[in-house]
Parts: sequence; C-alpha cells; structure tokens
Amino acid sequence: MAGKKGTIIIDRELCKGCYLCIEACPNSLIGIFDELNQLGYYPAYYREENNKDRECTGCATCALVCPDVAIEVYRE
Ligand code: SF4
Ligand code: SF4
Repeated sequence: MAGKKGTIIIDRELCKGCYLCIEACPNSLIGIFDELNQLGYYPAYYREENNKDRECTGCATCALVCPDVAIEVYRE
C-alpha cells in the first residue's frame, strides 16, 4: 500500500459520533468537527490540513469500522 494515495469523504449528517474512525486511522487524519449535525452529534471530519506531513493511503480502515457507513474512500 506504500505510496498509494487516497482521500475520504465523511457524510456528516450520517455520523453518530462514535469516533471509531478516529482511533482506526493510522495517520490521524480524522478529527471531531466543532458543530453539531442534524442528529445532534459532533461529527467526524477529514482533517485535510494534516495532509502536509501525513497522507491518506486509501487503506479504507476508517470506512470499514464505521457502523453508520458514513465514510467513502477514493483512491487516486
Ligand atoms: S466511525 Fe462513522 S459514525 Fe463513528 S465517528 Fe467515524 S464517521 Fe462517525
Ligand atoms: S483511508 Fe486509511 S489513511 Fe485514509 S483516512 Fe481512512 S484510515 Fe486514514
């Protein structure tokens, strides 16, 4: 998987704030957004700003652990 680049899109309105994805990402690319979504949770969000020194590999670990299927992974 080395050298392979990816990106993710998190659907904030599907997220129930369990934060399993945050713990799962080996590159710490997912954070907690500071505004509530319509379900009343602080949703996970993709921390693009972290991409300078850490890159998403498209490993899809975050999407696999998400119980609410809120994460889509795209490989470049
Ligand atoms: S695993 Fe899914 S539901 Fe849980 S915080 Fe991440 S995006 Fe939200
Ligand atoms: S696909 Fe892998 S590297 Fe990219 S955000 Fe998800 S867990 Fe992190």
